[in-house]
Amino acid sequence: MLEIRPCCEHCGKDLPNESTDAMICSFECTYCKDCALDVFKDVCPSCGGNFVSRPIRPKIELEKKPGSMNRKHIPKNIEKHQEMLERYHNVPPEKR
Ligand SMILES: [Zn+2]
Ligand SMILES: [Zn+2]
Repeated sequence: MLEIRPCCEHCGKDLPNESTDAMICSFECTYCKDCALDVFKDVCPSCGGNFVSRPIRPKIELEKKPGSMNRKHIPKNIEKHQEMLERYHNVPPEKR
């Protein structure tokens, strides 16, 4: 089950469950679309995997299983991300 983290880990933008702007990697590292695609170029700065749009939990289910309240806002080092990009940017996710 996804945690549904409440904000972008890099820029801190709010990403509530209903947001259509949230993207996650396979470990549920969570970023807004701008950070995931423009800043990190679809390479997760933590694991090197790709991002997909986070699914939205229906309201009735969210009442039973609410999203995480734990704000994880740890801006990434963009210079360091260049190494990750060099390794993975031109490699499709299924070959990483
Ligand atoms: Zn962001
Ligand atoms: Zn990741």
